[in-house]
Amino acid sequence: MALTGLEIYKQLPKKNCGECGTPTCLAFAMALASGKGSLDACPYVTNEAREALDSASAPPIKAIKFGNGSILGDETVLFRHDKTFYHPTTLLIEIADALSDEEIQAKLQEIEALEFDRVGLHYSVDGVAVVETSGSPEQFAKVVAQVAAGTERSLLLLSDNADALKAALPGVAGRKPLIGSATEANYEAVVNLAKEHNVPVIIKAEGLDALASLVENAQKLGYKEFVLDPGTRAPSQTLANLTHCRRLAIKKKFRPFGYPVIAFTSKTEPLAEITEASVYVAKYASAIVLKASAKAHILPLMALRQNLYTDPQKPIQVEPILHTVGEVNENSPIYITTNFSLTYYSVEGEVEASKIPSYILPIDTDGTSVLTAYAAGKFEPEKIADILSKSGVGDKVNHRNLIIPGYVAVISGKLQELSGWKVIVGPRESSGIVSFTRAM
Ligand code: SF4
Repeated sequence: MALTGLEIYKQLPKKNCGECGTPTCLAFAMALASGKGSLDACPYVTNEAREALDSASAPPIKAIKFGNGSILGDETVLFRHDKTFYHPTTLLIEIADALSDEEIQAKLQEIEALEFDRVGLHYSVDGVAVVETSGSPEQFAKVVAQVAAGTERSLLLLSDNADALKAALPGVAGRKPLIGSATEANYEAVVNLAKEHNVPVIIKAEGLDALASLVENAQKLGYKEFVLDPGTRAPSQTLANLTHCRRLAIKKKFRPFGYPVIAFTSKTEPLAEITEASVYVAKYASAIVLKASAKAHILPLMALRQNLYTDPQKPIQVEPILHTVGEVNENSPIYITTNFSLTYYSVEGEVEASKIPSYILPIDTDGTSVLTAYAAGKFEPEKIADILSKSGVGDKVNHRNLIIPGYVAVISGKLQELSGWKVIVGPRESSGIVSFTRAM
């Protein structure tokens, strides 16, 4: 449970020196109790006090780093609109060690091809989970080495057999893989192995009570680089466990659950599996192990992930400069839109589909869509006329025609008057651009 401000204050040096950035030790204690600030800011705190205050000063969910830049956890809120989510769910595609060499190579190739560009951003699958199903530590070690040689992505080594992990880990420890799973039966061997190689480890137990107890036992081994697996694979129970873990970590600061949680899909039909994974992305898996690896299945999941892990206070935006689509010339049409990425790239995609090289001038509306921007006074004719003039597009074309979104037809007269350009009211939705250009 979280400590109160007074409980924290009792452990502080009481010098009231202000070096921590707050004027008194009591004020610093209150800040720590409310989750603001770090104990590291006080240079005089003793080791004994530091140990005692760990639960108050630690983040609600520890950040666990592994592999090629994968970061799990370090989240601070239950709901995205409370602040933001920080570390997008790490997606790992599983490869069973019982597959043939050819099947493993084919799966790796498929995984390596999982790269996407969408709304100006690049996404790729984060890693590969090598799952021991062969029952042979030697086979597991061989396949782990084969997979490590075939990908730069983060690795998860998954077996409940400590001997299999011991056989496979030393060869790839430099890649800092996540390993698992430490269970009631093997946790001392597996956690000590993780500690020896300084890699994070999955702690797995059936149910939350057993998991909390196992985490506390594992912590006594002097290691805390944990990722939690509440065991069950039934989607409804997994969702309940993920939600309980997050609530207890954030709201109650229940330390055994102050670690990121990993989920494993149970469905085998790809669309059902992606639907299941979507639930875990939304609430509250820090990592998911998937079987599906086809682009058509993975892309929707990554789009959902990106939407959830975008800071709601900072909409994704494109640079508000003159953009070109295709080989523009002096006759190219000019479209006006906003700099909200989803709006801009919808327009750009449809302009591209029209096969008419064109200019697009996104107005800086702080990343809001057309109607929102207009309602907020950020898509006004005065502003558009000014940006149009400064963009220099008038020197690039031999006409004076502008196409504006149909939703803001109301500004056409004023914009025409202020800019001196003929304003053509385009379609309301970007999906109407192709037929609009054909009718022009
Ligand atoms: Fe107190 Fe430490 Fe802050 Fe000084 S730096 S005021 S001793 S908490």
